[in-house]
Amino acid sequence: MGSLARLSLAAKAAMVVPRLSRDDASLRASEAMAPDELAGLQRTRAMDMARFAFRNTRFYHDLYSAAGLTGADLDDPEAFESLPVVSKSDLRRAHDDFVVPGVPMEERLPSSTGGSTGEPLTLLHDRRAPTAAMWWRVYRWWGVHASSNKAFIQRERRSPRARLRERIEWWPTAQVFLDARELTHESMTDFTRQWNRHHPELVNGYVGGVYEYAAFLRRSGLPITPPLAVGVTAAPITPSQRQFIGEVFQAPVYDQYRSAEVPWIAAQCAAQGGLHVLSDLRVVETVDDGDRVMPPGAVGDVVVTDLCNRVFPLVRYRLGDRTSVLEGGCTCALPFPRLAPIQGRISDVLRLPSGQRISGGLTGLFNAQPHAVRQFQIHQHADHSITLRCVRGSGADAVAVITRAADELAALVGRVVPVTVELVEEIRHDRGKVRVVLSDVPLSPQ
Ligand SMILES: [Zn+2]
Repeated sequence: MGSLARLSLAAKAAMVVPRLSRDDASLRASEAMAPDELAGLQRTRAMDMARFAFRNTRFYHDLYSAAGLTGADLDDPEAFESLPVVSKSDLRRAHDDFVVPGVPMEERLPSSTGGSTGEPLTLLHDRRAPTAAMWWRVYRWWGVHASSNKAFIQRERRSPRARLRERIEWWPTAQVFLDARELTHESMTDFTRQWNRHHPELVNGYVGGVYEYAAFLRRSGLPITPPLAVGVTAAPITPSQRQFIGEVFQAPVYDQYRSAEVPWIAAQCAAQGGLHVLSDLRVVETVDDGDRVMPPGAVGDVVVTDLCNRVFPLVRYRLGDRTSVLEGGCTCALPFPRLAPIQGRISDVLRLPSGQRISGGLTGLFNAQPHAVRQFQIHQHADHSITLRCVRGSGADAVAVITRAADELAALVGRVVPVTVELVEEIRHDRGKVRVVLSDVPLSPQ
């Protein structure tokens, strides 16, 4: 099966989609570069993209002109860090002005996101981008060949017709899907049956959905053939969740950082020390509230540039996540810079009655003693009081650890609002995604 799939995929890549093997070769070439050489390539591509956006879209033309920038300024390779940062509300407000005119419809791939803030966004991806080669690359880092059978636990957005087309395109590679919006006993039993028919080498999906399925396997006692790798989207994953998922699937668990706006941003390599930015294809910066670039090690808001989207350019776009750039190289040979695990959303904040916002340290509450909880959630109610909701982990001291964490949380909010602990059997997920911080505090105008 393996060699037939491999051969078939190679033939398809060469004949049906010659671009795919070209993309793959180009991505492998940048993996072989020295870090400095790669950084130079990235700078060149970043300024090319900024100039392209300025010349071809009304939005960037107006944005950069209003900042006093001219076409000549954009010829300076050092200008990148001074380009204005683009926000989600810019994208919502001026959506049509981001679109590059004259691109054939078949090169545009509409994408939408539900948006964890409850405000949906729509945008266009570029079908000419080497997206397939990106996931080939990341799966290769995890020891999984592109032609291997795979399982996905995700929000199913494609039509049955599009799924059928994909099945035919990828034959004889099998892909099995579990819709993260419908994690029922029946759907998970059926998924397990398909799993054991196709023996996927990879399972990839939302942390919440993968965790839920792992819990189902543990509960039901149904056996599966272990995959080579488990991929989870880098929503904050607690060390205990990671450990539990790894135990149930008997495979290493890898983080990846993706978004609806910019697919495939960063992923862990086999060494699992931080997430390597796909820096030949994206620029990731972390900035402070004043949009100044933060030094390595300091936590800031993620600002991303997609170097491949010439349909709907995103240049220095504030994505809404927080993390830091790691210092130093990885033990692996890859030249790509690394990010620390994603800490959470910018919206993951607690608010005090005074209006003060607390955002640091929330997702790391159990980092020192991860065995104590399987999952946790910090829920702030409309009256500012806080519930620390926990699914108890193993260990006789679990309750004591949870009590201490609640006290730590109370200290974090200056002991001005009450913090109570609620032990629960499970934490409700929102379509496969679990929010670490839930807030019912009404947003006050700023
Ligand atoms: Zn590495």
